[in-house]
Amino acid sequence: MMRDTIAAVATGRNASGISIIRVSGQEAVSIADRVFVGKNGSHFLKNVPTHTVHYGKILSEDEVFLDEVLAIVMRSPKSYTAEDVVEIHCHGGITVTNMILEQILKAGARLAEPGEFTKRAFLNGRIDLSEAEAVMDVIDAGSKAAVRNSEKQLAGHLKQQILSLRETILHQTAFIESALDDPEHFDLTDYPAKLKDIADALLDQIRSLLKSADEGKLISEGIRAVILGKPNVGKSTFLNLLLGQQKAIVTDIAGTTRDILEERLTIRDIPFVIMDTAGIREAQDVVEKIGVDRAREAAADADLLLYLSDLTSEFDGADLQILSEYPDKKKIILLNKSDLDAAGSEQEVREKIRENCSGEEIPVLSISARNNVGIDAFRDLVEKMFFEGHLPSSDEFYITNLRHKEALMEAATSLEKVEESIRMDMPEDFYSIDLMDAYMSLGRIIGEQIEDDLVEEIFSKFCMGK
Ligand code: GDP
Repeated sequence: MMRDTIAAVATGRNASGISIIRVSGQEAVSIADRVFVGKNGSHFLKNVPTHTVHYGKILSEDEVFLDEVLAIVMRSPKSYTAEDVVEIHCHGGITVTNMILEQILKAGARLAEPGEFTKRAFLNGRIDLSEAEAVMDVIDAGSKAAVRNSEKQLAGHLKQQILSLRETILHQTAFIESALDDPEHFDLTDYPAKLKDIADALLDQIRSLLKSADEGKLISEGIRAVILGKPNVGKSTFLNLLLGQQKAIVTDIAGTTRDILEERLTIRDIPFVIMDTAGIREAQDVVEKIGVDRAREAAADADLLLYLSDLTSEFDGADLQILSEYPDKKKIILLNKSDLDAAGSEQEVREKIRENCSGEEIPVLSISARNNVGIDAFRDLVEKMFFEGHLPSSDEFYITNLRHKEALMEAATSLEKVEESIRMDMPEDFYSIDLMDAYMSLGRIIGEQIEDDLVEEIFSKFCMGK
């Protein structure tokens, strides 16, 4: 709470109806009061009750009128940062917003660093680290599912689980430590078997969180899908249909270093990043020269390959060749132009695949990208292929943060070591070392220090038996 007062524009970089300038810190109200005057020209913000809105204007240091604004005063601790906060809502022009910010800086605030308001909320103990990270995730969320998940994390969903895991671990460690210090009052006979059951339960919970991370990544980053196929089969038409708008097939490729365009869209609320290899077709034919590094990399990194073929021509060796190069990928084959006379059938294509792609079962669907036929069936299929056929529901929670995933993996490894020590009949202090490692790994998720709580727990709960 002894830190300086910071200020920044909280809204976007483009002109808009309204901009918000946020000021936080001990001097927030008095700094805002210096630049803000009411209708009658008086400075009164210092005297207003907390959580109230005030109409007035911002004046420059030489008393020149800058803008008509609303000021919201939120006093510590009930504010975003838990410090005194003033928000100034001004007209949304970039210049006018910056002029007001400049006045606030001149009046004594320091320009905030990126994320500094949220960092203060964390340092002031209003939110834990996982909640702080969720704030950014909500802002970055590219789909409703991602928003829902981040909101849950923001509401403390992950924190609660981590706190409860840690509490169990700490309790056991405290018990072991107490027993080692005071064997007269604490009996460790039969304890290893009990600890094994507890470690099993903890591991189950951690593993189920880890299992959610694969799908969590898809929710937060989007399913990476690559559209492949020979020229003219309708890749761009299909992509445009999914995007729901007519877009140029190849946009300013020349002069950029990227040769694969990425489009973000949602299918049944599932976020996708679709890589449009049509973009490189001008220069290199994707099918004939699949050796082209970029296309190969995109396909190798993808979560889903959408292979388009054209029902008016035969599904041939070149098609099969590409498909067989990615045996472990999820794939969908779309036979486009079903509105025209067909040269083959879905059934024939399925058989060719079975014969040529090591018996692989790849879903095959006929569509007409031009006439929007078969696209709903495609959406159904995609939904079924991911998230075990159902969308993340409101009570499911997914780990979306790699840092959390790594910490959970480390915690799991430490708990496995505890079980190993129990199996090998190691002395009890071995258990507590690995238990504490698990405790610390989990603590990193919520940004907690460890030593203080350990000491407190041991002395407060167990009182050393005396
Ligand atoms: P790409 O080279 O794979 O990207 O193919 P395009 O999307 O540019 O399409 C090639 C041609 O096929 C265009 O003339 C499209 O209008 C046409 N086309 C695409 N989809 C269909 C379809 O479902 N039915 C018919 N009849 N023509 C289509």
